[in-house]
Amino acid sequence: MKVGFIGLGVMGAPMALNILKHGHELTVFDQNPEAIATLVKAGARAAASPREVGADSEIVVTMLPEPQHVEQVVLGANGVAEGLPAGGIVIEMSTIDPATSRHVGDVLRGRGMDLVDSPVGKTSEHAVTGTLTLMVGGNKAAIERATPVLNCMGTDTYYCGGPGTGHAMKMTNNLLATSIMIANTEALAIGVKNGLTLELMQEVMRTTMAWNQQFAVALPKKAFLGDDSPGFAIRLACKDVRLACEAAEKMGFVASVGRGAQATMDRAIAMGLGDRDTAALLFIREKELDIEIRQNPAPAQKAA
Ligand code: NAD
Repeated sequence: MKVGFIGLGVMGAPMALNILKHGHELTVFDQNPEAIATLVKAGARAAASPREVGADSEIVVTMLPEPQHVEQVVLGANGVAEGLPAGGIVIEMSTIDPATSRHVGDVLRGRGMDLVDSPVGKTSEHAVTGTLTLMVGGNKAAIERATPVLNCMGTDTYYCGGPGTGHAMKMTNNLLATSIMIANTEALAIGVKNGLTLELMQEVMRTTMAWNQQFAVALPKKAFLGDDSPGFAIRLACKDVRLACEAAEKMGFVASVGRGAQATMDRAIAMGLGDRDTAALLFIREKELDIEIRQNPAPAQKAA
């Protein structure tokens, strides 16, 4: 199949590589020329604009930071929609709000194309191994045509419903996952400040309702090792929670837990940590309360 890919960042680059590995012809674009060069070395063709990617493809994947980037890249001047032939499909895999997803899809459908939403779950490691969770929304016929491309990138595929439901699923998932992450850092900091050790809290909480996947899996893999190297950037986690809160407010209620989580991440971004992994959220608590939550903190990694 002739496939296009736009947005070759932490997630997009390995996802695009997996499409190449499955034998599809691939045309790529990113605003960062270095990101394009890496894919070209692996066998992809470079395009000069999203329009050119569209003109060269039957299916175009987008994996971009925020809703406004998706709207601009797909519908803007020199965008994918100007080049993609009739019958072409955009697979939108970024984490964006369902309203933008439906809007972009409606415009494409009005012009004889289609959009499948398939944001992803899990981590950049799963992007490399092609084992992401895919939350798929859209029209059944378009999803069927997109499936060979989707299968290059993910193994756990969930059909969520019509247009926008994949993005609704992902936004909901990340509101919960990130709020839990931040609740962990808050509780652990209060515990240490009150004389408890991380080890004791792990031992006790493993047996109670406080136990969760962020505590059990995510925090030990990075934050507890003093590692906040780029993985899931705070600026992106913050964007996901903000989008969910805004969507809630449009429906007439305040997502107060989410807004609290967002305030913590806004603070981290103001401290210059937006590009660091969400692990840095633990280091901020340590700095603010003058404590060490990790047993063997690596001082060099602590928030400056
Ligand atoms: P990233 O910032 O590493 O990559 C984004 C890429 O898009 C960059 O290469 C950037 O140069 C490019 N880009 C931005 N604007 C552009 C434009 N107008 N035209 C062309 N290229 C443009 O982000 P990421 O971590 O790869 O995440 C991408 C999306 O996936 C985000 O919506 C994020 O929330 C979501 N996501 C990330 C993770 C993760 O663990 N990193 C996991 C699941 C979902």
